[in-house]
Amino acid sequence: MTDEAQGDRRRLAVIGHPIAHSRSPAIHNAAFAALGIANQWSYEPIDVAHEEFRGRVAALAGEGFVGANVTVPHKHAALALADTASDPAGEIGSANTLSFQRGAIAADNTDAPGFLAALPRSPSGLRALVLGAGGSARAVVWALVREGAEVEVWNRTAERAGALAEAFGASALEIDGRLPSSDFDLIVNATSVGLEGAERARATTSSDLDALRLAPEGFREGQIVVDLVYGSSETKLARTARERGAIVVDGLEVLVRQGAASFRIWTGLDAPLDVMREAAKA
Ligand code: NAP
Repeated sequence: MTDEAQGDRRRLAVIGHPIAHSRSPAIHNAAFAALGIANQWSYEPIDVAHEEFRGRVAALAGEGFVGANVTVPHKHAALALADTASDPAGEIGSANTLSFQRGAIAADNTDAPGFLAALPRSPSGLRALVLGAGGSARAVVWALVREGAEVEVWNRTAERAGALAEAFGASALEIDGRLPSSDFDLIVNATSVGLEGAERARATTSSDLDALRLAPEGFREGQIVVDLVYGSSETKLARTARERGAIVVDGLEVLVRQGAASFRIWTGLDAPLDVMREAAKA
């Protein structure tokens, strides 16, 4: 457990810009309530613009904060300002979890272990296709390569896929037309495609699949499909894959798992996953 806060309530936060939409406060506060420690711990959203991030974080420990999650657009800056970093944070190049201890800031990345924990099996030996080359794709590719998957990366902007693949020992998939998705045991959508689409998932449009160069026939039984995108309803990608018999892991499950990993870092306690899942969906 972080040791700076004794006596008073230990404050936690999620820092981003924008942040009002974040489900992390609901997830963590529900977990504190379920474990009977809501009088000792609290978690709140803090909206901080890019240029104010460093100064705001520096002030947090003095205000009773013992840690914070960090989200878009601050994950690189969070790693840069930390005094120490875990191996995943250092290798991935970004941090989503900060801990304030004895006047120092420690950085972790729980996006990678959270993603792995959400999978229904070890990815070791699986042939994996990762769509995207942004911040979350970096954590996913790093985690999959490290766990022994054979990883190919496709991205709308091909040069970014090439750079990401080269950084972590994966391959870039450059292909005209549809991706050969049925060849893969595991497909991960780490793009932002589907973000607004979550709300219109039941519509007949296939534009999200087209943007990702996927065809409904490319999904099959036994295949694992992870969509990092989440909203109040199932995404088009998740629904299509599920209807074709794939094992689907949605973005809320990944969010809960990374939250559970951060929760353990700060509190030393196992997170109540079912309580967190319910809070994420509410
Ligand atoms: P990011 O760094 O901004 O990267 C966005 C990616 O999406 C890039 O690869 C970009 O391709 C691609 N993209 C955007 N619009 C596209 C389009 N119309 N067609 C094809 N590709 C497109 O974002 P991020 O931080 O990695 O986040 C990606 C998504 O994951 C977001 O929806 C985020 O909410 C979600 N996420 C979920 C979790 C979770 O816990 N569930 C955690 C982290 C992120 P280009 O390089 O060509 O621009």
